[in-house]
Amino acid sequence: MIKKKDVPYRINLPEDRIPRQWYNLRADMKELPPPMLNPGTLRPITKVEELAPIFCDELCKQELNTTDRYIDIPEAIVDFYKMCRPSPLIRAYCLEEELETPAKIYYKFEGNNTSGSHKLNSAIPQAYYAKEQGLKGLTTETGAGQWGTALSMACAYYKLGLEVFMVKGSYNQKPYRKNIMETFGARITPSPSMTTEVGKKILEAFPDTNGSLGCAISEAIEAAVTGESKRYVLGSVLNQVLLHQSIIGLETKEAMAMCGEYPDVVIGCAGGGSNLGGFIAPYMQDRLTGKAKPYFIAVEPASCPSMTRGKYAYDFCDTGKVTPLAKMYTLGSDFLPAPNHAGGLRYHGMSPILSKLYADGWLDEARSYVQTDVFEAAVRFARCEGLLPAPESSHAIKAAIDEALKCKESGEEKTILFNLTGTGYFDMTAYASFLDGSMGDSVPTDEQLEASFARLPKVD
Ligand SMILES: *Cc1c(COP(=O)(O)O)cnc(C)c1O
Repeated sequence: MIKKKDVPYRINLPEDRIPRQWYNLRADMKELPPPMLNPGTLRPITKVEELAPIFCDELCKQELNTTDRYIDIPEAIVDFYKMCRPSPLIRAYCLEEELETPAKIYYKFEGNNTSGSHKLNSAIPQAYYAKEQGLKGLTTETGAGQWGTALSMACAYYKLGLEVFMVKGSYNQKPYRKNIMETFGARITPSPSMTTEVGKKILEAFPDTNGSLGCAISEAIEAAVTGESKRYVLGSVLNQVLLHQSIIGLETKEAMAMCGEYPDVVIGCAGGGSNLGGFIAPYMQDRLTGKAKPYFIAVEPASCPSMTRGKYAYDFCDTGKVTPLAKMYTLGSDFLPAPNHAGGLRYHGMSPILSKLYADGWLDEARSYVQTDVFEAAVRFARCEGLLPAPESSHAIKAAIDEALKCKESGEEKTILFNLTGTGYFDMTAYASFLDGSMGDSVPTDEQLEASFARLPKVD
């Protein structure tokens, strides 16, 4: 099936149309997400001073800002963004022809910078504000390594020190990720480690653990608050990160409008929710204000199904229970997902903003796929679009393909839009295990989830 190519394959926004403000979705929400709670007192956190020992001052303000609809992007960050943005919006003609679907498929490709994913969009502002505040260094965690890589680049750019706690399983499995971060000047510690009190405690209880994101977060926070002139930064989940990632959605909406398009279905993969939240933000604004009614789909791995099978409850953001509590869809802060190659989607919770939108029915659907189905979609996509997608991003690809095949059945000419968050070049072990047939699927049982829910903090 050959289609008429009435819009270009690749739609690039002119540089002078790069957004100069981030969009703060909370300003348009009918009801706000419930506030974070102080882990000691369980009282709502409403003041910047309460968060300031952990995060940079400006980022604390962004975290708590529920009223300013648009927030200026500092000139220096606009300039940095110009080095790798606007990211391309691509019309997937080849995939449409392969699927023989009447649907139009568009994707935004965020993997074109050296760090390989959308995470640089937030790493740069987080490092920038730390520099402005005169701090010496930052600490963070990384799972699969994309966030650590993006932040290492950002810290190298602003000449800030960086200590990365890397989930031990990934540290052992993905040595090149560690080498990239070290090349950019970061110091990497496999987590759990003996360098923090919380790490020692976890190692005492579980000497053979491969670690988890939640555990690495606890260690990174401890290293920040006990270190001198250091703060902690997080690559997803937080309101500030969704704010920075709105650059993806703003560019997409502008580029779609340039070719006279508006999506019927908007799809993104969801780990902590930052790319999905930022990607859908301007379209969600249309939905919340009654201007349009696109259908939103969040996609997650069946091995870590926080939205599809989790509970909407207050929970800690980390295993060590040192972070504030957030109300979110969660599998429990000590839930240890089975190994899955989409490391960036292995987080127990979900952004409080997206959780609230999902609970209230604005985010229409969450669905999950097992990893072999996801890789099948990734390979099919790679063969016709000539782009090697990250395993995380391939969750969105799988959903887009399924939606397009539904259109083939029904004959509907829907416009499907998804976010392709990163490249798969760092994930060749995962592709190898899919291609040689050794990849398996694992899905937690109801009993495992119930056991984890029973350990959720009691908050009413
Ligand atoms: C981290 C990551 C994700 C998931 O993170 P979100 O915060 O949910 O966006 C998705 N894709 C890639 C390539 C990633 O690196």
